[in-house]
Amino acid sequence: MKKTTKQKGFIKIFQKGGNKNGHAIIEEAARFMGLELMSSRMLNGLQIRIELRARKAANAGHCSVKCNGSDATKKFTIELSRDDHTATQLEVLAHEMIHVQQIATGRLQKRLWKSDKQLHVRWEGKELGLHKNIPYKTMPWEIEAYAGQKALKTKYIDKDLSSSFVKSILAGIK
Ligand SMILES: [Zn+2]
Repeated sequence: MKKTTKQKGFIKIFQKGGNKNGHAIIEEAARFMGLELMSSRMLNGLQIRIELRARKAANAGHCSVKCNGSDATKKFTIELSRDDHTATQLEVLAHEMIHVQQIATGRLQKRLWKSDKQLHVRWEGKELGLHKNIPYKTMPWEIEAYAGQKALKTKYIDKDLSSSFVKSILAGIK
């Protein structure tokens, strides 16, 4: 029988190549944003892997979670564009952390149904049907994330402006 070890939550950054100066800020920001959005108990139960990758698509930064299984609401992978300015990365991170909250709390549920093998969505307890039939711009979880990302990023930056390191990284950014 396989030994089941209880895995502790974590926030980890992974990157191949490029400048890694921003890691400390991104990790701290993810923790700060997580605690703004949910309880420490909930956040500590999650495993959040942040991957800094060379830009592949214009649509960088998306929250990938498994659709089914017990890990679906605990394990997250967030991709950020490696070569973006830290301020941009922080805003994308804020957007994705809002999705993490939506999923971890069960407000957003994406499930692969066995009957039709299609991805179905439940939002705040309401069945919204097939994921592919919902236009991106009308997805309530996206509307919420876009509406909240800037304020969440700013809250983190304002909190840490006393840090000269953060100041120097963000210099010149409005
Ligand atoms: Zn989104």
